Amino acid sequence: MSDYARHEHHDFTGGTAAALRDDGLQAALVRLTSTLMAGNRRGYAALADSNALRDHAKRIKEHALAHLDRYLEQLEASVLRLGGKVHWAEDAADARSIILDIARHSGCKNIVKSKSMTSEEVHLNPALEAAGLDVAETDFGEFIIQLAGERPSHLVAPAVHHTRESVARVLSEHLGERLADDPRSLALTGRRVLREKFRRADMGITGANFAVAETGTIVLITNEGNGRLTTTCPRVHVALMGIEKVIPRLQDLPVFLKLLARAATGQTLSVYTTMITGPRRLGELDGPDEFHLVLLDNGRSRILSSGFRESLQCIRCGACLNACPVYRRIGGHAYGGVYSGPIGSILTPLYDSVEQNPHLPHASSLCGACQAACPVKINIPQMLIGLRELQHQRQANRLEGLAYKMWSAMLRRPWLYRLALRLAGVFLWPLAKNGWLQRLPGPGEGWTSVRDFPAPARRSFRDRWRDL
Ligand code: SF4
Repeated sequence: MSDYARHEHHDFTGGTAAALRDDGLQAALVRLTSTLMAGNRRGYAALADSNALRDHAKRIKEHALAHLDRYLEQLEASVLRLGGKVHWAEDAADARSIILDIARHSGCKNIVKSKSMTSEEVHLNPALEAAGLDVAETDFGEFIIQLAGERPSHLVAPAVHHTRESVARVLSEHLGERLADDPRSLALTGRRVLREKFRRADMGITGANFAVAETGTIVLITNEGNGRLTTTCPRVHVALMGIEKVIPRLQDLPVFLKLLARAATGQTLSVYTTMITGPRRLGELDGPDEFHLVLLDNGRSRILSSGFRESLQCIRCGACLNACPVYRRIGGHAYGGVYSGPIGSILTPLYDSVEQNPHLPHASSLCGACQAACPVKINIPQMLIGLRELQHQRQANRLEGLAYKMWSAMLRRPWLYRLALRLAGVFLWPLAKNGWLQRLPGPGEGWTSVRDFPAPARRSFRDRWRDL
């Protein structure tokens, strides 16, 4: 696996080219995204009125974000009332040091984690490992990419880029024994290794799909039983969540439960929906002694007051990735950030920086398939255009600016436009073969290096129109 699968801020164009050359990845992407998109359409169709339900979910999110301060304080009060502890992390470094402090203070050494994109966002694992703690991802896909030293390549299918052969290779290297590439025996091996991790764990770390302000309930949605083992076996449970995940009332939850799994995979419900309300109470058999909720800002309150607030409505279902013609070809690693696909092209520049991720706002055809698939109808194309505008304001490219000025001057002078079309024809027709240009000079080469460009028509639309 090339470096672009491991490192952020890589060369986007190089990462994309590497992804396009990877036949195994191309086959896996077609298989996964087609299956999940079919599930998404089937899931929405199975609802009596999916449009109205999606609008309702959007309104709940809009309301929660409009009153985020109030609901976060209510959530904090509810968790404290239940005997849990609440920590506020301003940024990624803050989140890492809070969780390390909890581990030190509670004397925890062995950590199990269930899948959490927020923990990927703050680069939690390297910080825990550097402090001498043993950390194991327990979602099987995440476990494989942890062993391979990679980043997740999809929001809900993090190891989509792996085949059973590569999973067997990674597991065999880790265990020092040769394993067959049979899916059932690989799953049983993973189960055996992870059971031992669960047995020894003294801390469990999870994310949170939702947190209910009125009850202090943390909701985890998974398709493997690992989330429950992570929250109940160890004596300390830490849930790390972005502040935008709060919803006001328990009665709002079913709206999202009905939509999330349907949008992601077409399932009626995910296999496990776990609701955690505080640490273990007197007389209860299961659950941790300590429960800590870490509320992460990391740029979210800045986004809240910007024109990109709608991006905070995302419930991380992954449907926009599956629908996107760009993601379907290049996969998640090429994007360079923790979040990929259309929503990642918005979140990564916003959380990280627009300057460090200049290609992402352009990694879209703006076809709108992402918005059509999204359970909360986030207007992704509009936000990508907004980011391009922001980028233009901050990093105006003089050459590009000059080109647009010339283009604008030409469009405002029809005689000049006609002359330019004729000149283009005179220069380009001799280079055309069967109506196509196979090689363009200068910046045009970027286009023709991967596909042909149509030659200008022999007779322009204007000439034909005039002759009608
Ligand atoms: S933007 Fe919408 S479709 Fe994409 S992951 Fe978020 S909720 Fe799902």
